[in-house]
Amino acid sequence: MKYKKILTGDKVVVEVNDLKIGGNNKPIFIAGPCSVESREQVIETAIQLKERGCDVLRGGAFKPRTSPYDFQGLGEEGLKYLKEASEITNLPIVTELMDETSLDMILEYADIIQIGSRNMYNYSLLKVVGGVNKPVLLKRGMSATIREWAYAAEYIAAYGNKNIILCERGIRSFDSYTRNTLDISAVPIMKQETGLPVIVDPSHGTGIKSLIKPMSRASIASGADGLMIEVHFKPENALSDGFQSLTPDEYLDVINSIKTLY
Ligand code: PEP
Ligand code: MN
Repeated sequence: MKYKKILTGDKVVVEVNDLKIGGNNKPIFIAGPCSVESREQVIETAIQLKERGCDVLRGGAFKPRTSPYDFQGLGEEGLKYLKEASEITNLPIVTELMDETSLDMILEYADIIQIGSRNMYNYSLLKVVGGVNKPVLLKRGMSATIREWAYAAEYIAAYGNKNIILCERGIRSFDSYTRNTLDISAVPIMKQETGLPVIVDPSHGTGIKSLIKPMSRASIASGADGLMIEVHFKPENALSDGFQSLTPDEYLDVINSIKTLY
């Protein structure tokens, strides 16, 4: 392929149904459980989120877990529950694509395809989503530099798909106090460098519930085009990331706290 940079900083607005993400549009709020665990869990969480102000429902059906012995997700069954929750609430869905073999299945259910932190360097998968006609949410690799992340986005764009939402989710640093070190400076840098919308995931970015509100406020103040927050109707029962998941009411408190910032 001949090299000619595509993402040059010109503003890209990503459209999902009637939502407009990026440019000068208002920030969008993506929320939902880490994993889809049951029909009741995802539907109940989605209804409560819709009532509290949410634009996109998140939930993993294929989970990239660090340990092979942890819950790996419900697969297609989970996607069906997500779809049902989406039909009830009218919220579009973002869910993770882990590998090419599940592409057709994910395309059937998802409105936005998530490429997780662990796959940011998976160039063959980036080429694959570059060829599809759906927006892609590209998370920052946990050890990726700004340049590497920008090149990962460029891969997707180079293969034909410019509908990319970048998601800062924290990077590994020498400090283990937080789960990751949330790099807020990446927000304005990536917006300037690529022109793409940039959102922030303070849940994986900190791994600490009490930090989600202040980091959400910092993200929006720095110009983020949205947030992605893990919310569970009963965090104490969650099969993954319950420790960092907010209840729907805690989520509402975060959303209310940023209203003066945009
Ligand atoms: C997720 O958002 O479900 C997730 C697994 O996050 P990350 O890829 O950032 O670790
Ligand atoms: Mn998670």
